[in-house]
Amino acid sequence: MDSLENSSGDERATGRLAPSPTGALHLGNARTFMVAWLSARSRGGKVILRMEDLDHPKVKPFAAEQALDDLRWLGFDWDEGPDVGGPSAPYVQSQRRAIYRRHLEKLVAAGKAYPCVCTRAEVERCQSAPHEGETLRYDGRCRDRFASYDEAIDAANGRAPAWRFRLPDGPDATVVSLDDAFAGHFEQDVAAHSGDFPLARDADGAGYALAVVADDAAMGVTEVVRGDDLLPATPAQTLVQRALGLPTPRYCHVPLVVGPDGRRLAKRHGDTRIATFRAEGVPPEKIIGILAASCGWCEAGQMAALGDLVGRFTLATIPRSPVVFSSLDSFSLLTR
Ligand code: GLU
Repeated sequence: MDSLENSSGDERATGRLAPSPTGALHLGNARTFMVAWLSARSRGGKVILRMEDLDHPKVKPFAAEQALDDLRWLGFDWDEGPDVGGPSAPYVQSQRRAIYRRHLEKLVAAGKAYPCVCTRAEVERCQSAPHEGETLRYDGRCRDRFASYDEAIDAANGRAPAWRFRLPDGPDATVVSLDDAFAGHFEQDVAAHSGDFPLARDADGAGYALAVVADDAAMGVTEVVRGDDLLPATPAQTLVQRALGLPTPRYCHVPLVVGPDGRRLAKRHGDTRIATFRAEGVPPEKIIGILAASCGWCEAGQMAALGDLVGRFTLATIPRSPVVFSSLDSFSLLTR
């Protein structure tokens, strides 16, 4: 289970924080980022900050800037990112479209992507990371329908056709198993889960599965620590990595922070925005303290600075269940 901690080797661990500026950073995002940051830092690794702003129209103006401010205020730092630059710049996905396009062209040339004229709502969803059961299974009706993208344009009634990944043929070719550093062994038949999944909304509109794979590889990310609602989306990403000849990073999917109703933390559960706590004068150490307590690294009610937790990081004490915060002093574990 703790393979991240035990990994040795020459390559420097490189983790990333990948906020989507679709809303304010809240306790849930902060907890996952804390695990991601500490996982890399505890091994002397590097942290990259990448802004994942492809999700129109949900991207909110100022949210990107505010996410960086909130993270810095909480004690996070990063070696590469939109504000500090780095060898893989730009670190903002909307400025990386040319890179995604090149990857898409490679897949098209290899016959691994095809144009699709199916409903707009369905393919638009491809821009976001598919959280909480949002996956739709595609029946492949456009698979062998068009000889070229231009031919699809004619059939699309003025809309831009999307691009889908052509799953490899053969009974086992679509079954992906991974050894997640936290979640353990996970296996999925991508054909049964999503079918040929979307890669791009239109010729230029890279979707999440393509962008995340392209960026993690380009930025030399060796470990992806994120919420476990994205675990089911990971096998599709692995197929894209294989199709493009890119490495698969180590994955570590940790349970989410949820509301008392068991659903992913959101506005309806009250205001848990970091910016609100900050405006109320709550010290960042109080927030990090309760988040760390929920991971078993200190007692509830203790204050903790993020940097001071580097030596205490372990995946072993993180509870297997989602966490509910009732206040900044206490939390409980969701029992299902
Ligand atoms: N930006 C994505 C999100 O907020 C995270 C994707 C990832 O970590 O791979 O959901």
